[in-house]
Parts: sequence; structure tokens; C-alpha cells
Amino acid sequence: MGSIETPPLTENGTSAPTSAGGNSNVEQESHSAIDEMPSLPGNTVSMETDGLKERRGSSLPLEVGTRVMCRWRDGKYHPVKVIERRKVSYSGVSDYEYYVHYTEFNRRLDEWVKLDQLDLDSVEAVVDEKVEDKVTSLKMTRHQKRKIDETHVEGHEELDAASLREHEEFTKVKNIATMELGKYEIETWYFSPFPPEYNDCLKLYFCEFCLNFMKRKEQLQRHMRKCDLKHPPGDEIYRSGTLSMFEVDGKRNKVYGQNLCYLAKLFLDHKTLYYDVDLFLFYVLCECDDRGCHMVGYFSKEKHSEESYNLACILTLPPYQRKGYGKFLIAFSYELSKKEGKVGTPERPLSDLGLVSYRGYWTRVLLDILKKHKGNISIKELSDMTAIKVEDILTTLQSLELIQYRKGQHVICADPKVLDRHLKAAGRGGLDVDASKLIWTPYKEQS
Ligand SMILES: [Zn+2]
Repeated sequence: MGSIETPPLTENGTSAPTSAGGNSNVEQESHSAIDEMPSLPGNTVSMETDGLKERRGSSLPLEVGTRVMCRWRDGKYHPVKVIERRKVSYSGVSDYEYYVHYTEFNRRLDEWVKLDQLDLDSVEAVVDEKVEDKVTSLKMTRHQKRKIDETHVEGHEELDAASLREHEEFTKVKNIATMELGKYEIETWYFSPFPPEYNDCLKLYFCEFCLNFMKRKEQLQRHMRKCDLKHPPGDEIYRSGTLSMFEVDGKRNKVYGQNLCYLAKLFLDHKTLYYDVDLFLFYVLCECDDRGCHMVGYFSKEKHSEESYNLACILTLPPYQRKGYGKFLIAFSYELSKKEGKVGTPERPLSDLGLVSYRGYWTRVLLDILKKHKGNISIKELSDMTAIKVEDILTTLQSLELIQYRKGQHVICADPKVLDRHLKAAGRGGLDVDASKLIWTPYKEQS
């Protein structure tokens, strides 16, 4: 089985509505999941009572594809689309539960709801999507499903409508609802293609060190008595205070790499599934104490990238989000690039949250230099100093309107007041990477 690797970079986002976590986030300072939610003025539905109660009876059970208003955890009603339904029985009475997608929110908030959360008076006639869905699933041959697993599925922007449908069809219902990792029980966000024998598990138990996963708590307890790892496999390449970074070679630690990918996919929507973790290095960030080194997040990196990618996937686990770790991971990826003497850029597409994190990082790093620098400086010089790719520097400065075209040349305009304003908006830098504590030589293929 494969593992998933992750092209689409993701970041952390935010999570769950309750806690504002992030996605993989990398950072999330100003960005809680909740912030992500569009504010929906007045979307508390007006409950019209003029009737049509008979609709209630006649429309049940609701069809897949039905659009209806659903009470969310904020207590308000939001529009949803029914993605799937299943029969359940409560104390002998059988009824349906519905897996719904809140049309205004990210898919990470899709969930199973009970009938009493739905406002049946708001049911809209089912459009033909139901039929379309059937056609799509019929057309999904095994080959295509495999293809979804194997191909480098890009992010939404680069998927055509048909592939996107396929992706969403195949991954529409979250399979594992929660996972236990170390002292945390974590609510998951997305579907992850665990081997079939785990399909009926709502909860998985992970060894926080080797990342083996199990169906039952007792299995984990038995495992923990035998497992002799107290940190990720691989080399510790950075230590500062209680923070350590481990470099794990996917080829030498294949099972670990695959386990990490399964786990990460629970929090990354478009992470691509690769069967081949051999081609990647995993940088696993840990908080260490006397019980061991506890993973807080990671990023992966191709051993050889034609496109000068210095980061493929990035994730901060939800319990550790909003503490600056995402920013730390991004900064760390650039420190590695500096040591390699190369410029780097994250693999595209960036998730919404990933883009915010990177924009923040680029803004802080570049504007700090512009603020301190006396005299002229070129984009190329900025790139050499920071390992940030020229294109990323250009788009960052352009989006801040700091580049003007004068006399046939692009000129950076660095009015200190403007720089300060942008720096303030970009937020805090999070935890700093102390480059002097990075003990690392760039990866070389062993012959
Ligand atoms: Zn273990």
C-alpha cells in the first residue's frame, strides 16, 4: 500500500471549529479556523412556518444531493448539501444519519449529522446531481480509482472539473473520525486511505514514536510496552531548548514514512498519494521531555527536485497549532536551502492556509531586510540572501504594491512607514530557527 506523499502543500489550517486549529498548518496565528469561516450575516434561517409540514414526511429519508439548512456547532443554521447517508439504529429504532458538506465552509468541516439538526422546511428539491453522482461513480473504474491514488493530484486550481469530482467522490466521507496520539485525542479533518481492514474504525490509536496505528487501545498499550523508540527514527539535526528536528529518510524508514503519510492525510485535503516514500525526506519537529520526543508537526521534501521545491507537504498537528510551529517549519525549510546553496519554493498548489502562512513568512523576511538595508538592492540579491525564489519575491512585493515600473525597470519602493505597516499586518514571526544549532549536511544519494 502506499503511502501518501504530499504534493500539495498544505498547511495547517485550521481546524476544527472549536479550537481554531489549523490545518496543517503552519501557522496560524492570525488564522483560526474560525476566522476562516465566512461570516454569514443573517444566516440564521428564518423559520417560516407557513407550512408544508407534509413535506417533512414525504421527503424522508433525504436523498444524496439534497440541499437543506443544518444546525452547526455555533447553534446557527447553515446551508449544506447531503453527501452520503447511512442507516443507524438508536435503541432499536432505525433512522438515517446524513454526511453533509457545509457549502460555505472548507471540506474539513464535513460531518455526520442527525435528522434533528436539519431544518426540513428548508429542503430544496433535489437537483439532478444525484443522477450525475451515480454516473460518476459508475464511470469510476478501478483503474481510475487507482489513478487517483497514484497520480500526482494537484490542488483544486489545477484539477479540471472532472478530476475534482473524482477526487471528491472518492474521498467524500471522512473514514476515521478521531485518532489518539500520545496524550492527545485529535479530531480528524479529511479522508485518509488507510488499508481496507481499517475501514470500519472510527478511531485509531497511534504509537506516538513509530507511528504504527492500531484499532484498539489495548493493542496500543501492548505495543507501548514493547516499542523501544522514544523519538522519530533518523538523525536529530537540530536541537534548541526542548525543540528537536529529526531527518527521516523515507527509503531507510519506509514504514515510518508511510505511517506518517497516512496520519498526515487525515489533516490534508489534497495530499497526493504516492506509493513511494523512498523519494522523500521527512523533517519531523518534536517537543522533548523526559518521556521522549513528541511530534508536533513535519514537512516533507523531495530528495531531488527539478523544480527547486524545498518543501512538499507541511503539517502542524491540531493540538500544537497557533503556537508558531508552522512558521518555524517554513523557516526551517529555507535554512536547509541556504545550507544547500540553493533557492527553494514550496510545491504548488498551496492550500489557502498554506498561502497565508507563506505570504506572511516572505513578507516578514523580505521587509525586514528592506528596512535595514541602506542603498539599492536587487531582487536577485534578496533571493541570494534568503533562499527565496525570485518569482516568490516578485509576487510578494507586487501584492504589497512595493514594486513600481519606472523607466523600463522594476524598482522596489521601500518607504519605511509603508514597510512597518505591512510588517505589522504580517504578524509575529513565531519561533525562530537558530541556524547555528542546525547540524546538517545536504542529502547525497549513497552509491
Ligand atoms: Zn511504537
